[in-house]
Order: sequence, then structure tokens, then C-alpha cells
Amino acid sequence: MTNKVKKISLLGATGSIGRSTLDIVTRFPERYQVVALGGGRNISELSAQAQRFRPQLLAVQDETGAEELEQALNAAGLKIPIMVGQPGAIAVATLSEANIVVAAMVGAVGLEPTHAALKAGKNVALANKESMVMAGRLLNEVASANKVAILPLDSEHSALWQALNGEPESGVEKLILTASGGPFREFSLAQMAEVTPEQAMRHPRWDMGPKITIDSATMMNKALEIIEARWLFDMAPEKIEVLVHPQSIVHSLVEYRDGSVLAQLGLPDMRLPIAYALSYPERLPLDLPKLNLAETGQLDFFAADEERFPALALVRKALASGDSGAIALNAANEIAVDRFRAGEIGFLEIAKMVAGVLDEIVAQEFSTLPQILDFDAKVRQSLLNSGN
Ligand code: NDP
Ligand code: MG
Repeated sequence: MTNKVKKISLLGATGSIGRSTLDIVTRFPERYQVVALGGGRNISELSAQAQRFRPQLLAVQDETGAEELEQALNAAGLKIPIMVGQPGAIAVATLSEANIVVAAMVGAVGLEPTHAALKAGKNVALANKESMVMAGRLLNEVASANKVAILPLDSEHSALWQALNGEPESGVEKLILTASGGPFREFSLAQMAEVTPEQAMRHPRWDMGPKITIDSATMMNKALEIIEARWLFDMAPEKIEVLVHPQSIVHSLVEYRDGSVLAQLGLPDMRLPIAYALSYPERLPLDLPKLNLAETGQLDFFAADEERFPALALVRKALASGDSGAIALNAANEIAVDRFRAGEIGFLEIAKMVAGVLDEIVAQEFSTLPQILDFDAKVRQSLLNSGN
């Protein structure tokens, strides 16, 4: 191994993945150093992180936040440059000192900084799955042109990466993504029609940010993850399946052509895949609770139910519509999740809104970032105009 300290730029530092990443950095100060932190609106958290990790650069979502942060840092006797908005996130992503960027913003706003990081020749540990869904082909091209890697952070994709390690591609038959099934795994459609955002926020296994928690409840998260896996592992979407596994111990599986199935298991704790992406190909001596299968006792598996979880059928439709389908699915879902959280639409309306948008679009392929951002904006605008 190299003794060089890895210098990390962290986007989405104040979020669930961001905080878990900083936990890993804290445990291994001889290996990792934070050089830049990007947050959104949680200024008190970012200020505390800045005082603790002393980065060279900070970014926040808006001017008000920047002023508040500057005052907090002044009071602590610290002077660190603060940048704002997308230019700020891009500056964090491209800081010359950084050798790895952890992309953990939520949603489509993560795409430009992720793209910029790869273009600047940084390895990217990718949590922000929405960027891969919107622009997987482009991000892969940019990564390979700049000889850098996109390292999966998502637990399922980390599991696939580990189960694929060292195996020739030709032997892979299919990728099997596990899904906890979320809080409504056993609900009927009639019951789901009545659920509140508070109920949807209570995930049985994982403690995550609000958007991905709702995505897990609708299983749109798995739809996004199919597209994410397609690009991360260059796999035909027909070869990617979903398997419901309520205990969230088996994080995903690879089936090989001889019938062997390799899986990665572990307790549901994102610090594990984060540590793997940061330390690859090494494994860190992580002092966390370990899986005890005798205690777990039982592992259950079920086929996914596309009738109660239409997101799983919608992703096939989106994939059949090429790049525009994936971008539209993601954009419509982001808007629908915001509206559900605001109490404006019911839980089942989320998939209906996405289905409505997918019905309208024409299949198109996009090769540049402006084309992708432009199409994303058009989908969002059409939803706003239609009053849907
Ligand atoms: P959170 O909501 O907890 O965190 C999101 C982060 O993004 C926060 O730091 C937030 O800032 C920041 N942010 C949001 N909008 C903006 C913006 N416009 N400009 C700048 N920063 C912004 O989400 P998670 O950590 O749960 O998820 C992050 C990503 O990782 C998502 O793409 C998710 O799908 C993926 N992921 C998450 C997993 C998990 O276990 N949480 C597992 C696998 C993938 P602030 O809070 O300061 O406003
Ligand atoms: Mg996941």
C-alpha cells in the first residue's frame, strides 16, 4: 500500500452519507484528510465540521448560508474561503489538492459537480446515484478519458463490485440487486393510498436522508439503482434483477454462468461501503459491530411485486426510451417526492406522475452535459406547466 494520505473533497458533507464519510476519516486520520467540504443549508453542521476538519475550501447552497457560515467561523477565529451554489460545489469537486471526491449531494444538482470532478482527473466515490441515472454513459466516457475511476458507494453496488472482483466479465450471467422492500413491503395498494410522509420516512433497516427514504418506500430507489448498475458495471439492463430481502444483510449478488452465485453480506451500515470505496483495493480494520449469522438466524427472499410497486415496471419503460427515459424518470420522481413530502399529493401519485411523464417523451440519446441538463430542465418545466 501507499503511505500517502488521501485527500478528500466531500460534497453533501452535512447529509447522511457525508457524516458517515467523516466518521471514517476520523477513525483513520493517518490515511485520510479532508481538503474541501460542500454543504447545502445546514450551516451549523457545516460550521462544526469546518472547525473540526479545517478544510481549505467550503461551499454552501446560497448567499444567506455563506454569510451565516462566515460569522460562525469568525467567531471561532477561523478564516476559510466560502463559495456558493453550483460554482461552489464545482470548486469543491475540482480543488487541485484533492485526489478523491466523495459525491454525496442528493438529486440532480449532484450531476455537474460529479462531472467536473471526473473532468478534473479526480477519482469519484459515488453516492449521488441520480447523476449516474441521468448521465451514466457520459460520466463513464469522461472517467475513462481522464483515466480515473467511479467507485460505487451505494451498498448494493458496492456488494456487486466486491462479488465481481477479479472475475472475467464473460462469466457473469446476471446481477441481482437486493431491496429491503421498505416500510410498506406488506401493504396493499389501498393501504398505501393512505400513507403519510411521516410513515414513509420510517425505514425499517436504514437511516438515510429524506429523499432516498421515500424512494425506498416506493421502490423507485431500486429503479434508479438498476440504471446505476447498468452504467457502473456496463451490464445490459435485462441482466439486472431485483430481489426483496427484508433483513438487508445480503447487499446484492452476482450469478455466474456456471450457476454459482456470489454475494456480499454485512450489517446495514453505510460506513462499510464508504470505507471500501475509500480504501480499495485494501480493506480497513473497521471496528464496527460485526455480522453474526447465528444471531440473525433467518434470511428471507421474495420476488418483487411490480403491481404494488410500479416503479419496478416504470424503469423498464424508461430504459426502453433511452437516455431521455432515464432523465425523465429521475426528474419526475424528484418533483413528485417533493410534492408528497409537502403533503400536496398522495403516496401512489408519485409513480403515477412518473408514468405520466414517461408516456409523453420521445426516445433520445444525449452525448453532452448541456443536452442532458437541458432535457432535465424541460421535463421539470413541463410538469410545472401542466399543473400536475
Ligand atoms: P441527505 O439528504 O442526508 O444529504 C444530502 C446532502 O446534499 C446534504 O449535505 C445537503 O445539504 C446537500 N444538498 C442538498 N441540496 C443541495 C444543493 N442544492 N446544493 C448543495 N448541497 C445540497 O441525503 P443522503 O446522504 O441520504 O444521500 C445523498 C446521496 O447518496 C443521494 O443521492 C442518495 O440517493 C445516495 N445514497 C444514500 C444512502 C444513504 O444511506 N443515505 C445510501 C446509498 C445512496 P444540507 O443538508 O446542508 O442542506
Ligand atoms: Mg442502495
